[in-house]
Amino acid sequence: MPSPQRLSAIEQIQLRPAYPAEAAESLDALWAHNVFTLEKMKRALPKEVFKSVQRTLKEGGKLDPTVANGVAQAMKDWATSRGALYYAHVFYPLTNSTAEKHDGFIAPQGDGSAINEFTGKLLVQGEPDGSSFPNGGLRSTFEARGYTAWDITSPAYLMETPNGVTLCIPTVFVSWTGEALDKKTPLLRSIAAMNRQARRLLTLLGNTDVAPVSSSCGAEQEYFLVDQAFIGLRPDLLLAGRVLFGAPSAKGQQFDDHYFGAIPERVQVFMQDVEQQLYRLGVPCKTRHNEVAPGQFEIAPVFEAANVATDHQQLIMTVLRSTAKKHGFACLLHEKPFAGINGSGKHVNWSVGNSTQGNLLDPGTTPHDNMQFLLFCGAVIRGIHSFGPLLRSVVATAGNDHRLGANEAPPAIISVYLGSQLEDVFNQIREGEPKGSSSGGVMQLGVDTLPEFQKDPGDRNRTSPFAFTGNRFEFRAVGSGQSVAGPLVAMNTILADSLAWMSDQLEQLIQGGASLQDASFQVLKQIMQEHGSVVFGGDGYSEEWHRKAVQERGLENLPTCAEALPVLERPEVAALFERHGVLSRVELQSRYEVYAEQYILAIEVEAKLALRMARTQIYPAVNGALGDLSASLMDQKSLGLTVDHSLAERIGSLNQQLAGHCNSLEQAIGAAPHGSIAHMKHCSEVLLPLMLQLREAADSLELLVDDERWPLPTYQEMLFIR
Ligand code: ADP
Ligand code: MG
Repeated sequence: MPSPQRLSAIEQIQLRPAYPAEAAESLDALWAHNVFTLEKMKRALPKEVFKSVQRTLKEGGKLDPTVANGVAQAMKDWATSRGALYYAHVFYPLTNSTAEKHDGFIAPQGDGSAINEFTGKLLVQGEPDGSSFPNGGLRSTFEARGYTAWDITSPAYLMETPNGVTLCIPTVFVSWTGEALDKKTPLLRSIAAMNRQARRLLTLLGNTDVAPVSSSCGAEQEYFLVDQAFIGLRPDLLLAGRVLFGAPSAKGQQFDDHYFGAIPERVQVFMQDVEQQLYRLGVPCKTRHNEVAPGQFEIAPVFEAANVATDHQQLIMTVLRSTAKKHGFACLLHEKPFAGINGSGKHVNWSVGNSTQGNLLDPGTTPHDNMQFLLFCGAVIRGIHSFGPLLRSVVATAGNDHRLGANEAPPAIISVYLGSQLEDVFNQIREGEPKGSSSGGVMQLGVDTLPEFQKDPGDRNRTSPFAFTGNRFEFRAVGSGQSVAGPLVAMNTILADSLAWMSDQLEQLIQGGASLQDASFQVLKQIMQEHGSVVFGGDGYSEEWHRKAVQERGLENLPTCAEALPVLERPEVAALFERHGVLSRVELQSRYEVYAEQYILAIEVEAKLALRMARTQIYPAVNGALGDLSASLMDQKSLGLTVDHSLAERIGSLNQQLAGHCNSLEQAIGAAPHGSIAHMKHCSEVLLPLMLQLREAADSLELLVDDERWPLPTYQEMLFIR
């Protein structure tokens, strides 16, 4: 029988009113209902004003002040007609979260009345006091001013909460001196950099009409749902987002019966609620299913332009969390809430393209498309090889360290999976005599015949961190709780860099008399000879790969944040971002400092929490259980029965070990060294192992002491009761 507090949580769950699913509204009624779409803008604005907005959208640049006034007026009229009294500049600080500064539309008048007011200036620029957001030394508190500025490429929307309706305006967040304090600014810059280089190459390839190139992103979000009643009894889930103690359930995920199984009814009602809200916000959610672990689910939208997809991804996380609360759940976005069963990732599907040439990572069917495709794909290969450690560092978080390389998620070694067909093509190019045909017999490579591809290569490799999936790459190492901005910035920038190199090479070769096609083959050949070692189609989980990747191919294995984050300090990384105008050296340095600090904070909070839970919850509970057990043994003895002390002895000795581990952990917490690298290493090499030692003692005890004494909800309860 569970302890009284656990029992009462279980009863509370059983008594939860069946949350009735609201009748689903038609898509017409729902879709983008809360978004100030271009269509709504067009209807509300004079023709000339709207045209000017369209021009700004297409060409970038600043919105004309009179136009901004018109847009602000229209936006305010729409928002207030829907009940909004406040507007908020929404921005994305370096913490993976979303921040908002709310202001009322209210403007008191001299005669005692008040009106709603919203000007172009208020729309376009805001000034939140940003001093409490992490900035890695970019600003001191006395010059704490930060500015938000509307990102016109991401539409404004209404956020409806029980506390009312707010007009939300997506913005960038920069310092007084213009340095990026957020995740959106570098993302926009990286898209612009990639656009510049992609158009240059497309023009070089002979395309006459080349529309702006942008990157696309479709992110698959995994998450866990646990009933709120258990959270109150688990300080670790509440504060750290993962359990720091807990013996595995007798039934875990070993039956694989959860994956794509029937979605539990209560969860389905929750999902429908989430999707309807997201539809209203114009987020195109498309798939939902159970994931591998019990209690784990996934939601994925249809891909969109990277910038909008990133804002929408933040909205998905916000809506998942708030809706879970409403339904009596907690939505866990941590990468590894429960050791021993699968964690959660966020696969970032990424491609680049435009309206004139289409998806540039789609092999297409005509030879011309194919050369274009091979060059873009080759540029990706070169980029991933040159900056693999950077890609590892942009997914480095305390939570993700538990997942990467743990046989459920890609290893901490960055390689590229192309699929057998494409790998074969690139290998032939490397050998320099591209004339063989692939096993399928479809592909032909010759000096003047370019390969034909089967549309869908069909095969998949789930063990690769970076996989080609037919018309896009899937970056599979991203953590579930992360903003996708960082990974997208890295991918766009390294692609921009490779494309720039490629155009330089092609120009030189063509000037030297080579035909475009010969020059292209030469460039691709060089890429494969210098960077082909990053292409790997085998089992990324295997020990053999871990050894070979490092020893034979010279790829780096960076298993923890302590090793991966300092990559941001490498000169070649700073030069890369600077070269393409994505991040200045100071901006990059500040990011390193913020992320290192976040890692340290996360581990230290966990360590303190583990210590406290062990001392104030587990140790006393075990002593209580031991007292009961000794009393009953004494009773047995007094009755003249033979008494077996072995269990009591085991429990007693484990609890002493637990107390000892607590002392060691306490000492280690107090012994943090100076300097961010040393401090990070202290976290990963000292604190985490000590916490694990403590956990092992506690988890053994959980399996020995009287269940009625155990204070913490068990795996079984948290994962299976809903
Ligand atoms: P799987 O689980 O098999 O990887 P899903 O259908 O769950 O596939 O997710 C695939 C994701 O990839 C979706 O978000 C989808 O919209 C996205 N996607 C498809 N094409 C592209 C593209 N060209 N660029 C970016 N993302 C894409
Ligand atoms: Mg996927």
